[in-house]
Amino acid sequence: RTLSVRGTPLHGSPAAGAVLVFHDVTDLRRLERMRQDFVANASHELKTPLASIKAYTETLLDWALHDEGVNRRYLERIDEQADRLNQLILDMLSLARLESGQEFYEHRPTRLLPLLADCLEGHRGRADAKGLSLAFEPGGVDAEALVVADEEAIRQIFDNLLDNAIKYTPESGSVRMACSQGEGAVIVEVVDTGIGIPRDDQPRIFERFYRVDKARSRELGGTGLGLAIVKHLVSSIRGQVAVASRPGSGSRFTVTIPRYPGTLHAASDPRSPA
Ligand code: ADP
Repeated sequence: RTLSVRGTPLHGSPAAGAVLVFHDVTDLRRLERMRQDFVANASHELKTPLASIKAYTETLLDWALHDEGVNRRYLERIDEQADRLNQLILDMLSLARLESGQEFYEHRPTRLLPLLADCLEGHRGRADAKGLSLAFEPGGVDAEALVVADEEAIRQIFDNLLDNAIKYTPESGSVRMACSQGEGAVIVEVVDTGIGIPRDDQPRIFERFYRVDKARSRELGGTGLGLAIVKHLVSSIRGQVAVASRPGSGSRFTVTIPRYPGTLHAASDPRSPA
């Protein structure tokens, strides 16, 4: 590690003391490199769907506009790519807001289980369409169990994890959300029987734009930002997220969220000391 030290004497007298500013140059360089990588990655990701839109539009304008069959097919592709651009921009904005610390979430005591069950139901249509079984296992966790989190943040975390589980699990597999009681925390696992993640990639999948298989992720509509968003959101509610996976067998994402010890009634009563 490289440290640079700058000393500034106070009031003209060195004996009066000094303000020492420590810059961890290694960290600064790393941050600058991450920023440059992000700009390069983001530009590339934005350019890819834009290039497709441009190519389809040019072909339509050149010759395909009057061919009914080609016409519709190309317009559908343009529509898909526009959706992808839109999702990418939404994810980038979400991440930028989270990283700049502009909290727009209001973390407050919230019943976790009904929220998780509702979140899971929102994915039933996609799971059915793929012939996947989708199950919610409350385990021994009390339906009244509270965590301190904004509902929207919880939804975003588990929507992203369920979305991935469904996306990366081939037809007729299974996806389940299993809850259990940890020490002072609720543990929620999203488990799938999908393609899995090679061991070397596992520590990197929470990085922005990191994907095991870029082509496959793009084809499935991924932006490469979902897990980076999950990581930020989980730490904003003082939780932890981890992955365990074996290629060909499936993946298990474990989210641990501290449990709020009070009751919802006491939590919403301003006179309560809880
Ligand atoms: P993406 O939009 O590409 O899915 P994410 O940030 O959500 O981006 O995930 C990063 C990468 O981690 C994915 O591209 C994929 O390679 C891998 N991944 C995430 N979840 C799973 C899963 N349930 N099964 C297999 N691979 C996964």
